[in-house]
Amino acid sequence: MPGLFQQIQAGKLWDFHGGIHPPGRKEQTNQKPIAVLPIPDRLYLPLRQHIGVAGQLLVKVGDRVLKGQQLTGADNSMAVPVHAPTSGTVLSITPHTSPHPSALPELTLVLEPDGLDEWRQREPLNFLTCDNLTLLSRIQDSGIAGMGGAGFPTHIKAGLTQPVDYLIINAVECEPYISADDLLMQEAATTIVKGIDILCRLLNPKAVLIGIEDDKPIAAAAMMAACSQREHYYVRVVPTKYPSGGEKQLIQLLTNKEVPNGRRPADIGIVMQNVGTAFAIAQAVLDDHPLLSRIVTVAGDTLNQPQNVLALLGTPVSALLDACGFQSQPQQRVIMGGPMMGFTLPDLSVPVVKTTNCVLAPTAQELPAASTEMDCIRCSACADACPASLLPQQLLWYSKAKDSDKLNEYNLADCIECGACAYVCPSEIPLVQYYRVAKADIREQQREALKAEQAKARFEARNARLEQEKQERQQRNQQLAAARQQQQLASGANTAVADALARIKAKQAQTAPADERNKEQILAERELKKQQARDYQQQKAQQQQAHQATEPHSGQPEQTAATVNTDSKAAAVAAAIARAQAKKAAQATEQHTTEQQVMPTPDTGKGNEAVVSAEADPRKAAIAAAIARAKAKQQTQTENETSAPPAAAGTVDKPTAESNSAAPEDPRKAAVAAALARAKAKKQASAEATEQTAPLATEAVIADKVVADAVVTEDPRKAAIAAAIARAKARKQADSENS
Ligand code: SF4
Ligand code: SF4
Repeated sequence: MPGLFQQIQAGKLWDFHGGIHPPGRKEQTNQKPIAVLPIPDRLYLPLRQHIGVAGQLLVKVGDRVLKGQQLTGADNSMAVPVHAPTSGTVLSITPHTSPHPSALPELTLVLEPDGLDEWRQREPLNFLTCDNLTLLSRIQDSGIAGMGGAGFPTHIKAGLTQPVDYLIINAVECEPYISADDLLMQEAATTIVKGIDILCRLLNPKAVLIGIEDDKPIAAAAMMAACSQREHYYVRVVPTKYPSGGEKQLIQLLTNKEVPNGRRPADIGIVMQNVGTAFAIAQAVLDDHPLLSRIVTVAGDTLNQPQNVLALLGTPVSALLDACGFQSQPQQRVIMGGPMMGFTLPDLSVPVVKTTNCVLAPTAQELPAASTEMDCIRCSACADACPASLLPQQLLWYSKAKDSDKLNEYNLADCIECGACAYVCPSEIPLVQYYRVAKADIREQQREALKAEQAKARFEARNARLEQEKQERQQRNQQLAAARQQQQLASGANTAVADALARIKAKQAQTAPADERNKEQILAERELKKQQARDYQQQKAQQQQAHQATEPHSGQPEQTAATVNTDSKAAAVAAAIARAQAKKAAQATEQHTTEQQVMPTPDTGKGNEAVVSAEADPRKAAIAAAIARAKAKQQTQTENETSAPPAAAGTVDKPTAESNSAAPEDPRKAAVAAALARAKAKKQASAEATEQTAPLATEAVIADKVVADAVVTEDPRKAAIAAAIARAKARKQADSENS
């Protein structure tokens, strides 16, 4: 079996899925020669007429420009310049309605032709001696973009570096009414072939396949004649079927190759150019004639002379229609492009651009407007007609739902907007319009995502730059500091250090008096506060003494009040004084040493002593008070005993008898009484032994009395005091005996 190339050489053709056969209606124009339109009064030149970006503007309002002069630059690989189609003056550069389905305003240069049609200097090239770079630059500088309708920059496709098997020249022109390429081939086949030669020089393909529909026999014959001297140029006449002119469909027709989804023909070794583009390349290289005009089919039953015209770029559609005898009708529609892929113009001031191949002004009967849209009945006629093997009804559903994920999943990007689905739809659903809107939305989302990515990249680059600058600054400062240090060391840094120290000392001297003054002031204030505290404490102590002196002691025993009335008052006063002094001593000092004071009894003037603890212990003060009272009582008893009969005075059994009288009632009292009796007996025995022990004996008696009082009054506090006194007395007794 012969290989693919042999099959191609043998003239084998293949088919593609779907497609339709609408009425061609090309006879309106394909039998007439190309007319050359007169230069219009105004030319409206959008600065961007292709897929890509606009070049930088090179002229300004008021400038006079020559024919073929660049109005915008080719400063970007995706930029294609725009040229002045004739000589004239730049009137304005303002937004103008664009030749696009969206009709959005596009920045447009308005040129007023001067009628001279004065050319700039031209420099033709010999493509056989030029290098590829020069050829590609010439193609780009001449403003050539795909003239089949896509408008992709030609120099990019012509400058591919990857191997190319087949260069396909698209001369199918399958859409009804349109015959511009047909007429171009009829009249300029030789120039077209020269353009193909230039492309072959750049791409070096294995073979050139020129596809022409079988409804263009004159053009096919012309091309065959022009290519007869080229060994690997093959003119292939394909059956008329819409849309055979689609890129992927024509590739499949001629080579039986399918371009995978999301891939380009170049990925399978194929490059396709429109026949009009090949003609423009030849003009640009061989004549230095940039793309200034193009052939446009002006058709429709509202025209007296439908025909193909050679129109300058920027010519308003109204000028084309007027040149063809346009008879406008009510609710007249004017379509740019063919009836399948074209779009209705918002107004007739829209200009001819590089991708304009047809202007259609049909009558209402000839091309009825779309009727009311109905619901999809899922007949699948659209899927059967789709040349891209898509599911148009599913795409419709997801387009309405604006579900971009599903649209991508169902390969909306592969839709060539041929309109075959809408053509066969019984529900009159304008399917292509839905797809165009959905594609625009997706493009906008992608643009936003790209902008966000670029913004993020710029942000990160800025952060990196700031960080780098910071590090460089720090490094520079360190180097400067090191250099300064070395310089100071070299030029006697000690002097500078001494000066700095002197300055610091002078500053300290200035601030010292102020600090000293503050210190003295603080000490004076402190002293004043201390003096006030001492005065307050002294005043308070005096008040307490006076108060206690006027009040009888609440704990005075009742049984002694009857016998020693005067002395008990004195004892109470002494006890109060003792308590006050103890409290005062506790408040006045914070020392924890114990101090005793002996307070003379004012009434007796004898050596009665009140033992007061210097500690701020109320219990000890109470003990001292109790001892004082006991001493007072003892003094009274002593006086009574001196005045009593000898029998009574000489006995020591009286207290015992008193205690015994209480013994039957309370065993504890009896025990205490017994202890007292023993203590008294001991005291009696040692009373005369030494005079030094007398105070101790006296104290013991007092203590015994206190204990007895405590027992008699049954006061726990007194009992505790008595027990403490007894213990102290015992210790003293023991000490005295030891001494
Ligand atoms: S042709 Fe129209 S009605 Fe039929 S499935 Fe497609 S969209 Fe629906
Ligand atoms: S317009 Fe798109 S979906 Fe409809 S037939 Fe053409 S390629 Fe298929």
